[in-house]
Amino acid sequence: MAWFLNHYKCDRCRRRWADEWSCMCDDTCPHCGARDMTPYESEELTTLGLKHEVPLEYWITRFRG
Ligand SMILES: [Zn+2]
Repeated sequence: MAWFLNHYKCDRCRRRWADEWSCMCDDTCPHCGARDMTPYESEELTTLGLKHEVPLEYWITRFRG
């Protein structure tokens, strides 16, 4: 499965963050809560040979919770 490290910059508070996801999906700003921020850059971790110990269910729970 492909795995991405997405880099975001918030349009509202101008802060940056990065998050890992199984696709290049939008994220919510962890600083001000602005929704649907699109990544300005995305690295495909699977091509870098990195292995993830965190199961996908963890991220699903985190983002839905
Ligand atoms: Zn923000």
